[in-house]
Amino acid sequence: MSISIIGRSINESATLKLNETFAILKAKGEPVIHLGGGEPKSKSPLDAITALTSHANSGEVRYAPADGSIDMKKAVIRYTLENYNRLVEPKNVIVSSGAKQSLMVALQAILNPQDEVIFPVPYWVSYPEMVKLCGAIPVPVTPEDGTFTPTMNDIEQNVTSYTKAIIINSPNNPSGAVYPENFIAEIVKFCENKGIYLIMDDIYQKLVYNNVKVANPFDFVSDFSENSKLIIINGISKAYAMTGFRIGWAIGNKALIAVMSNIQGHQTSGPSILLQKAAIGAINGVQSSTNALKTTLENNRKILIERLKAFNGIHLLPPDGTFYTFADFSAYEKDSTKLSKFLLDKVRVLTMPGKEFGMDGYLRISFCGSIKDINEGIDRIKWAIDPDSANELYIGERKLVRDWR
Ligand code: PMP
Repeated sequence: MSISIIGRSINESATLKLNETFAILKAKGEPVIHLGGGEPKSKSPLDAITALTSHANSGEVRYAPADGSIDMKKAVIRYTLENYNRLVEPKNVIVSSGAKQSLMVALQAILNPQDEVIFPVPYWVSYPEMVKLCGAIPVPVTPEDGTFTPTMNDIEQNVTSYTKAIIINSPNNPSGAVYPENFIAEIVKFCENKGIYLIMDDIYQKLVYNNVKVANPFDFVSDFSENSKLIIINGISKAYAMTGFRIGWAIGNKALIAVMSNIQGHQTSGPSILLQKAAIGAINGVQSSTNALKTTLENNRKILIERLKAFNGIHLLPPDGTFYTFADFSAYEKDSTKLSKFLLDKVRVLTMPGKEFGMDGYLRISFCGSIKDINEGIDRIKWAIDPDSANELYIGERKLVRDWR
């Protein structure tokens, strides 16, 4: 079999793979608990469903423009004004099949082979693979002070003449860290001065707790014109609990958006018009489901943090945003892939290994599921790894006996 060099260099998405394993176990009737999830469990906003079904009922479901429908672009423009205090034009907007595609076409539009793309550690699993798909080189940067928050010094030390872009994801998947405003201000200025693209992946922008403020990069750009190197990525997957609708978007300078639209036009054409209608319904409709989701997540977050803090030997920097915790389990096991597999095999709890996010020894544990699952999942994890645990644990009727130490 003859496979391309790039094709061979791409790893399977570890998170998608574990989700599949979970689905298989569940279908077999295994009492599995998913604490590794990347999507809220609440229902899509009613306004989204109404908008979608009324367009579907028309029976006329046609191609959408390659860069998104004009009414969807208008909804994104309104969203951008409301959430970034910046009025952009339709030509500054591309709508894609998920934020993932917006990111991918942005990278394809700007990267040449051998270019380098910097992003802080821990990072979303797809960044390195997306960069590699363009034949470019991922440059993960670990904050020197042992936190989840990089400094400009950390970034600058890794900038070379090949650096084409920096990806910033705040609130961050997997750490939940929200980077401070002064860091965002500095990096916007730095990228402007150096002519480096700054890709802000803001998909978790609305999911923050305790009144933490997510910095607005537009507050610091001196000029959002044809020369601007700022690219904003956002979408409906997380805050509107609409992961399956696959709608996201990018905001950038008009020339760049035109190139991205050319690429997307040959890749997938515009995203499904039905799903864009649903997204418009969500963005322009009543925001009560996003607010309710935030309240649920806030409560879940508190419980999960309390449970993890009560866990001897685990180190946790509590998340300010997203619906993830990223806790250091290395006192128990340094190999996070092994630990995650052990927990799934022994007590049927799915967690995401930190190694996939660039930090071994950590586990990503989500709080987007139910409180019952969070509590039971942590009970099981504790039983499995705490050497002082009782010898037996019941999962429903099933009796587990510790045959390991
Ligand atoms: N960026 C980050 C950091 C994410 O966590 C995700 C989804 N897991 C995405 C982008 C992609 O979102 P979408 O569902 O809109 O493609």
